[in-house]
Parts: sequence; C-alpha cells; structure tokens
Amino acid sequence: MAINLLDLDAASLTAFLAGHGQKPFRARQLLRWMHRFGQSDFDAMTDLARSLREKLHEIALVRPPTVVADRLSDDGTRKFLFDVGGGNAVESVFIPEDDRGTLCISTQAGCALDCSFCSTGKQGFNRNLTVAEIIGQLWQAGHALGAYQCGTTQTPERLISNVVLMGMGEPLANLDNTVMALRLMLDDNAYGLSRRRVTVSTSGLVPAMDRLRDECPVALAVSLHAPNDGLRDELVPINRKYPLSQLLAACRRYLDKAPRDFVTFEYVMLDGVNDSDAQAHELLALTRDVPCKFNLIPFNPFPGSPYRRSPQLRIRRFAEILLAAGVVTTTRKTRGDDIDAACGQLAGQVLDRTQRTSRRSFAIHLQAGEAGR
Ligand code: SAH
Ligand code: SF4
Repeated sequence: MAINLLDLDAASLTAFLAGHGQKPFRARQLLRWMHRFGQSDFDAMTDLARSLREKLHEIALVRPPTVVADRLSDDGTRKFLFDVGGGNAVESVFIPEDDRGTLCISTQAGCALDCSFCSTGKQGFNRNLTVAEIIGQLWQAGHALGAYQCGTTQTPERLISNVVLMGMGEPLANLDNTVMALRLMLDDNAYGLSRRRVTVSTSGLVPAMDRLRDECPVALAVSLHAPNDGLRDELVPINRKYPLSQLLAACRRYLDKAPRDFVTFEYVMLDGVNDSDAQAHELLALTRDVPCKFNLIPFNPFPGSPYRRSPQLRIRRFAEILLAAGVVTTTRKTRGDDIDAACGQLAGQVLDRTQRTSRRSFAIHLQAGEAGR
C-alpha cells in the first residue's frame, strides 16, 4: 500500500527515502514541496530526478484530510470541517487578528476524558487522528487562505503565525502523532513556526507532559478549571489519576525546558461552581509556586449541559482578584459565534465507540488565540 508522506516528519521521511536508496537532501526537498509550497503532485516537484518521481508514484502519495465545509464569520473567523473517514469529522478554526493569525486544530475524533462541561467529552472517543490528519489541517487551511498561491509573498507561517492544539481531543493522549506533527510545524523545511507560537493544551496527563517536555517542548496551556482536588475530580475526572499536586509539579518540571517562562492556566467560568471570590484566592494560593498566566474562558453551553456561564461582572471580579495579586489574567473573547465557531460551538461529528451517548453531538469547544500570546 502506498505510504502517505504527510504522515512523516523529517527523520522518518529521511529513513523512508534511504530505504529506497535516496540521500537525505531528497527528504528536505520533498518536505519543502509538500509543506512550504503545498504541492501534492510529484510531477510538479521539478527538482526531483524523474526516476525518483516515477518511484514515488508507485510507493507514495500526499493525502491531506478532505475539507467538507468551509465557513467564514462576519468577524473574519473561518471554520473548516474535515472528513476523517468512518463517519467522523473534526474541525479547525482560523482566527485572524491584527498582529497574528491563529489556527486552532484537533488531535482526536472525540475524547475519552469526559470533562463534565465539555461537549467533545460527552461525544465519547472514536480514534486518534493520524499525523497526516493533524498536519493536514494546516496544509488545507494554508491552501484555503491562499498561502500557497503562485506569486504570493505570504508564506504559510506568515498567514498562520500561531497554532494552538485546542480543538477536539486531548493532544497528550495521542502523543506520538502529536509530537511528529509538532516537529513538522517547527521544521524550517515545513512550516517553520517558533516553539513559542505553538501551544499544546492539556487536561493534565502528567507522564505525557514529561515526555512532551523531553521530546518537543512547545508553549504549554493546562486546563485547570478548579482550585482544589474535590472540585477538579468532578469537573476534570483525569484529576483522580493525576491530582493537583502532581499536575503542578509537572508544570514546574515542564518550565525547565519550555520556550516560555510561564504556563498558561485555562479556567472555564461556570456560574456558581468555580467562580467565587474565595475560589479565586484559593487558586492564587494553589498556583503560588508556578510561574503562570491565567486565561478565563466564559463557558459556552451546549444541549444537555448542566452548567451556566458566569455573569460578566463575576468574571471581571474574579479576574481582578488574580490581577491584584500580580498574575497576568486575560478573558477569552468569543469569536465566530455567527458560524458556530466560538468556544463550545464547533461542529465536529463523532461516532461514539465508547457509547457514552446514543446521540451524535455536533458541538465541540474551541479556544481563541490568547494562549498563543
Ligand atoms: N483536551 C485539551 C485540549 C482541548 S480542550 C484540554 O482539555 O485542555 C480546549 C479547552 O476548551 C480546554 O481548556 C477545555 O477545558 C475548554 N472547554 C471545553 N468545553 C468548553 C466549553 N463548553 N466552554 C468553554 N470552554 C470549554
Ligand atoms: Fe477531552 Fe479536553 Fe474536552 Fe476534557 S476538555 S473532555 S480533555 S477535549
């Protein structure tokens, strides 16, 4: 069976080509054609020897996931829906801002971790995305945004300057494929993004955080959501396995090698659940020893969810308490809600193998760009 070259990072592409008697520079050429120029046709890769092009036709292909929907919001936010086979679909969202363009991508079809406020979690888990399906979201968004058009001065990394792994799924539960896709994002022959501009968001898989630190440290966002184990056990069930003391220790270890000198803590604002003044103070005490910033996310309700969004004034008051203690705190803006692309509104489609729900859910959450700052 032909191999999909979008599944390979530089090291594995070099090894693959070596197996066919090719020198390492051929891998660099191929990476550039595929990722810098968005080329999928071997015949157009004019500096490859004709014999190699013929060989590639036999043994390989370049196949990104198919875009099945592409919607543009009034505020410029653009949402892509990808068919990943077997009745499953995942989404990416491009969020343009004055000084950056952020692409939010998915790493799994569904999620097994079942956080109580998350509609992806409520959909259950179907499967991990492949490297080609993860990096293919950048490839396809680059095409749709015109980054690869002939004569354009906009290279993919200029248009998509930041990537956040905050769409569907838990990136660290699909660590091998996520790391390979991250390496392609950072590779100068592929997307050439700086480590500071690529952010992985995790609900707190402690051993995988250590592996990410050792294998490919990029900016880190951690979904905290609660100031103590009792409440976090309820909201983020993986906390029962890796409680806060272990999670915060892993954050400190991560910072030894991280490209930024802080961790971003995400905190979804749930009315009457985790948003009191006392909980803000508890949060400050909890995170005292971790250099961090906070990103407050107003909860986005979905059908059947038991929570409400905290009122705006409450969110402001909560932020003020953190700010008064000297902790940089931002509140996420809702973008793209007219095309259901805001946090909690993204429409993936997952056939639930875990049978968590009998219905198919059409909503997932999404993060805007703050974490990538
Ligand atoms: N699995 C990873 C990354 C994807 S979730 C993680 O949990 O960090 C990205 C962010 O969206 C997380 O901080 C998550 O807690 C948040 N989120 C999930 N559901 C949400 C909702 N309904 N409203 C607002 N934010 C939500
Ligand atoms: Fe999974 Fe993240 Fe949703 Fe939790 S918040 S269920 S880890 S996608």
